[in-house]
Amino acid sequence: MYGPGDVRVEEREAPRIVEPTDAILRVSAACVCGSDLWPYRGVEQMQWPAPMGHEYAGIVEEVGADVQTVKPGQFVVGSFWATDNTCEICRAGYQSACVDRVPMGALGAQAELLRVPLADGTLVPTPDIPSEDLVRSLLSASDVLGTGWFGAVAAEAGPGKTVAVVGDGAVGLLAVLAAKQLGAERIIAMSRHESRQRLAREYGATDIVEQRADAGVEAIKELTDGLGAHSVVEAVGTQESMNQAIRATRPGGHVGFVGVAHGVSLDGMDLFWSLAHVHGGPAPVRRFLPELIDLIWNRQINPGKVFDLELPLDQAADGYRAMDERDAIKALLRP
Ligand SMILES: [Zn+2]
Repeated sequence: MYGPGDVRVEEREAPRIVEPTDAILRVSAACVCGSDLWPYRGVEQMQWPAPMGHEYAGIVEEVGADVQTVKPGQFVVGSFWATDNTCEICRAGYQSACVDRVPMGALGAQAELLRVPLADGTLVPTPDIPSEDLVRSLLSASDVLGTGWFGAVAAEAGPGKTVAVVGDGAVGLLAVLAAKQLGAERIIAMSRHESRQRLAREYGATDIVEQRADAGVEAIKELTDGLGAHSVVEAVGTQESMNQAIRATRPGGHVGFVGVAHGVSLDGMDLFWSLAHVHGGPAPVRRFLPELIDLIWNRQINPGKVFDLELPLDQAADGYRAMDERDAIKALLRP
């Protein structure tokens, strides 16, 4: 990305092993993230030009001398942070705050080849080379599925719970899928787009709320005897969506927020009186990857359906444009 709205595909030097713990992947599929739209829209400043992309699945080409568990020829999925998976924070399940973490976005996964630092801790191999129809779902595990899943876990979605999801992008839709898998009794998806509502229902939403802001909060209260939801996933990252999430949560309930917060400030007094648990941040996707790969491999979930646009890598700019204009939920890029 050369600046807001300016995405170009060009030849860069092929990545090579730098550290003995690195691996080089041949990327089978990459994609555009909702968070890539923040710099695209000029909301987030970067050092231009910046390599883009932090979601990836592919085949290991080469590994450094110290890599033990990952082998050339394996198909692997990794998260948007490279992590050692051995430090105290990783072992507690918060790999996205690993003391050795490296942001994959800085290396640029929207590419044919990708260097992955800390390969043993970062990459999870699939049982075999996946059939073509599984690749998109495996790719989703790299970020959007893992992030939606973390949102649902942070919101303590589970049996007997009513879960509301704020945001109908790929993460929000997959938070619906996660809530269903985690056994939620009732799942309220907030969306005013017909095609997204349809996918939300397919993923397990039992109710749809089209209203936003105060009216959206009221609608959720009406569906929950005036109490609010037990669990609310916030998957947008704006002031409005955050307020909506906290106010739609019942006292004692849980908010899981996974939208990257931009210009959000919370009023201490509102938070005080909400009696809500509020937990979120960059998802520790690595914690969930083995389980998510297993569910995908056994065809118990089909998260790859959030990719409603597929383009060759050299048309990446069209993928950004389509997502920016909300013509596409999520664009998959084929190197
Ligand atoms: Zn770590």
